[in-house]
Amino acid sequence: MRKYFVFFFIFIFFNNLSASEKFKESRSTHFIVFYNNAPEGFIQSLLDKAEFYYESITEDLGFRRFNFWLWDNRAKIYIYDDANSYRLASNQPAWSGGAAMPSHKIIQSFPASKDFLDTILPHEIGHIIFREFVGLNNPGVTLWLDEGVASYQEKRRYAQADAFIRRLIDQGGFINLEKLSSYYSLANLDSGLIDIFYAQSYSIVNFLIKKFGRDKFVLFCRNLRDYRNLDDALRLTYTLQGINQLEKAWVDYLKK
Ligand SMILES: [Zn+2]
Repeated sequence: MRKYFVFFFIFIFFNNLSASEKFKESRSTHFIVFYNNAPEGFIQSLLDKAEFYYESITEDLGFRRFNFWLWDNRAKIYIYDDANSYRLASNQPAWSGGAAMPSHKIIQSFPASKDFLDTILPHEIGHIIFREFVGLNNPGVTLWLDEGVASYQEKRRYAQADAFIRRLIDQGGFINLEKLSSYYSLANLDSGLIDIFYAQSYSIVNFLIKKFGRDKFVLFCRNLRDYRNLDDALRLTYTLQGINQLEKAWVDYLKK
């Protein structure tokens, strides 16, 4: 189901790409940007920032890199002129500001948001780096974990996430981890639920890294890569028996 979903988007992407006008190109060591009318100054800032994140996200997550994004292996960033052409090309929902296709190292977005370079760009690069490490079609990687690791790259945006979740726990609206793990797509959720989904996803990853350290998080990702099962990775790394114990440890940490 999920494979089909990804394949479907890839098909739409390449189908729409062939129909679109020819892009201009700009290159750095690890990235190629394709764009139409975006200002040259923006494209240069984008390449500078992308190179910065290429190093800093790998470092931040503690991953050692085996696969370098050089020459033909560079990541491709498509910058559409506006939200509308982005959505037409990517088939993403109205709230989406960017999308990543880790299997093809492709990022799609548009430069409208002033926070683009500090939020969407590191988020999408985070998806690709994480997926390269744990494996592209790994059934152990839930959507919340994938989004949590990507959102962890835009920490400033989620500075209030823990306080927000404490309020949800006290006043209602908290999504338990079993329910959170059942989401494979956010396409049909309302915007309130989407905010909760991202805040909780970020908060769990932030908890794992803050409470147990970065080295343990690398081990967790390595176990996830090798055993392709979330419960096994939680047990082997943190001696947590499944997502119920993870939820309890996380909520206890938030309440302290
Ligand atoms: Zn994402």
